[in-house]
This record gives sequence, C-alpha cells and structure tokens, in this order.
Amino acid sequence: MNRNAPVDLHVHSTASDGALTPGAIVESAARLGLAALAISDHDTVDGLPEAREASAGTGVRFVPAVELSVNLLSGGSAHLLGYFPGVEPDVLCDKSADLGMALARVRAARDTRNPRIIEKLAQLGFPLFEEEVLEFAGGDVVGRPHIAQALLARGYVQTSREAFDRFLARGRPAYVERERLWENTALDLIRSLGGLPVLAHPGLMDGDGRNLPALIRSLVPRGLSGLEVYYPRHSAETVAMLLREAAEAGLLVSGGTDFHGSPEDSAGMGGTQGVFMVKVSQVEGFLRRCFGDIELTEE
Ligand SMILES: [Zn+2]
Ligand SMILES: [Zn+2]
Repeated sequence: MNRNAPVDLHVHSTASDGALTPGAIVESAARLGLAALAISDHDTVDGLPEAREASAGTGVRFVPAVELSVNLLSGGSAHLLGYFPGVEPDVLCDKSADLGMALARVRAARDTRNPRIIEKLAQLGFPLFEEEVLEFAGGDVVGRPHIAQALLARGYVQTSREAFDRFLARGRPAYVERERLWENTALDLIRSLGGLPVLAHPGLMDGDGRNLPALIRSLVPRGLSGLEVYYPRHSAETVAMLLREAAEAGLLVSGGTDFHGSPEDSAGMGGTQGVFMVKVSQVEGFLRRCFGDIELTEE
C-alpha cells in the first residue's frame, strides 16, 4: 500500500442521505486510486452488501461501516462510527439480530417524528397538512425548519424563529424528542459484532471543545476504539489536540471526508479534489487493525 495514497473512511451513499449508490462510490474510489474506503451511512447498513460486491477485484480495500446518532450520558448528542473489518455485510444486515433491530427502531421513530409534531400543533390549535410541509422540503429530508416555514405561510407566526421559540424548540409544546441510541448501547452493539467504535468529527460537537478531552476519556472505558482526527472542517489545532488525546488514551486515528456526493462536498471523495486529503500513512494503525499486516511502500 502506497503510504501517500488517499483513503476515505467516511462516505455516505443513497442508503442514507448520499447522492451516489454504493456501487458508484466504489467505482469512483477505484478511479481516484483510493487505497481504502469505508461506507458509513446514517443508521443503516443496507448499502454495504452492494459495496462489498462492487469492491471485489478493484484494489480498493473496503471496510463495512455505519454512522450512529447517539445520546451522550453526559448530555447532548454525537455521531459514532462503527467499523466492521472482517465482518460480512450480510451479517450486519440481519434484521433479526441486535444491530438490525436497533437500527430499524431508530429509523421508524425518525419517520414518525414529523407527523407527531404536526399532530401536536393541531392539538394546540395550529393545524397543518403534511403536504404543506413537504412542499417546503422540496424533496429534501423533512425537518423542523420546513414545519416552521409552513407555520409562517399560514400566518400562525411572524418569523421562522418564532415558530421554534413558541412551538418547535426543545422544551416547547410541539417538540418531539429525536429517537437516538444511548452511547453505551451503541458502543456495545458495535463491539458485540467485533466492530471498532470511533467518535465521528469530534471537532463539530457542541460547545467550544473544552469538554472534549473529558468526553473522550469517559468513552474509552466504555469501549471507544478511535477518533476521527482528520476531517475537512477540523482546524489544525483540533487535529493536534485529537492526536494528543488519541496517543494518550491509546486510541486509533481515523479520517474521512463525510462525502455525500453533492457539489458542496468541495473536498471530494478521499479529499482528492482539494487541500484536504487523508493519506494511508496518517491512519496506518487503523488500517493495520482492519487489514492485518499491510506493507507500506513509498511509491
Ligand atoms: Zn456525522
Ligand atoms: Zn457522516
């Protein structure tokens, strides 16, 4: 494996909110010369069998993965990546197994969240049709901002801000909690399948990052394996801090672009379009955990 070759350990496909199919992602990874690729869709592993199949014979080493939204025991939420080297995607996709059942529950709750918010608004005397909300979403994943726009269009509120302050924000009467796994459940689910739990884009978490070292340290005894250190929106200081924390806690170092296949993804898959790129040498320890004893070459 060329130590300077690009890798991408965080990519989304059409199985969640990405624009490219798993097969198309693998194809373009091969074209871009990626040494390793992980597809990590939000709360689903359904795209993994297709990607595994497409990767055969391409020279791109494929790691099945998933990105879970979790509630933190210390408050707030985070994204947790689970990597499953050596696990067959079909095993991960088994809907009757713990992971499959947990993911199905999370997705079902997400699908019913907006109708439940609309129901609460109706009870409060501000009825909306679901179609009005869908119109504002314009095909995007429907969320509270679209409900706010529909409330505004009806004249129930003067601004979208007011819609949140009066109805939609946490603690307000039409708020519905987003169903997420708890951190310990998610860590256990990943580990029970032999997977590696990695904290995704730690630099994007709430707050100014001062609590981050404490959070990382609290997750280590619960089974955290690594940190996503290299990420397009991480500053040089964040990267340095995360490298320090990883070294101190004995955590693996990973990296990826969070590519969704849209034009805004300026980094491109593997960061091959711009200044940001994750190289084999930067995530060497992680790749060894995934693929055994890889040999690094200079060329
Ligand atoms: Zn994320
Ligand atoms: Zn992501």
